[in-house]
Amino acid sequence: MSPARQPDDPDAALRPKSLGEFVGQAAARDNLRVFIDAARGRGEALDHVLFFGPPGLGKTTLAQIVARELGVGFRATSGPVIAKAGDLAALLTNLEPHDVLFIDEIHRLNPVVEEVLYPAMEDRALDLIIGEGPSARSVRIDLPPFTLVGATTRQGLLTTPLRDRFGIPVRLQFYTEDELVQVVTRGAGLLGMAMHPAGAREVARRSRGTPRVAGRLLRRVRDFANVAGAAEITAELADAALTRLEIDQLGLDAMDRRYLTMIADIYRGGPVGVETLAAGLSEPRDTVEEVIEPYLIQLGLIARTARGRCLNARGWEHLGLAPPASPPP
Ligand code: ADP
Repeated sequence: MSPARQPDDPDAALRPKSLGEFVGQAAARDNLRVFIDAARGRGEALDHVLFFGPPGLGKTTLAQIVARELGVGFRATSGPVIAKAGDLAALLTNLEPHDVLFIDEIHRLNPVVEEVLYPAMEDRALDLIIGEGPSARSVRIDLPPFTLVGATTRQGLLTTPLRDRFGIPVRLQFYTEDELVQVVTRGAGLLGMAMHPAGAREVARRSRGTPRVAGRLLRRVRDFANVAGAAEITAELADAALTRLEIDQLGLDAMDRRYLTMIADIYRGGPVGVETLAAGLSEPRDTVEEVIEPYLIQLGLIARTARGRCLNARGWEHLGLAPPASPPP
């Protein structure tokens, strides 16, 4: 039930297509509305936009909406896919004026490619080296005006020169329960499911503040409803299905609980370093920091401190355990 994208996610089916349809992220939406209208009014390309926040909150969706609202073309790629400077040059020179180029996981760009991106973003020009050795020469190619939309899980993962070249940085937040109720209700409608309002709230409450998770839980709950021959998804049915999937009352899954239990049982509540936790969970450190921890921090179950991760009082309470009486020696 990870909020990270998985290859079989039918994300596209549930994607809102306009800013008006997009639920939540009110501050981001209002600002984008102004910047998009202003750019359109002036007949210019929109300034470069950086979306950052945990996976599944709608960065790709918003990038597509920005292009649609601007009435321009949309090209999508991702940082690790652009292996060589030439790959980026090919993408950029094929853009139509004012198009949006979306680069997901932009923090994973190869440094050589990133160097080529700077003048492209700033001066709309590509500086390419043609040939090798003494006969090598540099050529400058002018590019059409375009908008780069980058997405990353944390703004701090970007190098400073890259971060500074985005005129419009947008932080996405976890969704509130009420917002997720809207997402779930809309999704149920699109999937042709009869959903009781209390059923929608149950799914929303256990979606980890994340629309992608909400969409995935919705489909699993539908499976249970179909097999049970239920005509409508009630709160009881949603609860039974989610409990079978090991999603607890706060929306935490088995991995979240293993993470919390490890800090509690083995490290007496911490502090413990993230590398140690990642090794214990057999997960990459990035996954721990960008996928597992942000929601646990948001819920106030754990804290990231300079000395490592610590379980908060709420974390102990959620596990049904008492914190150790005396501090560790
Ligand atoms: P990210 O790029 O941040 O990982 P996506 O844009 O791919 O996230 O969104 C993940 C899923 O969540 C998609 O299926 C999308 O339709 C859905 N989604 C994201 N934001 C919203 C929203 N505000 N309202 C409804 N559905 C959303």
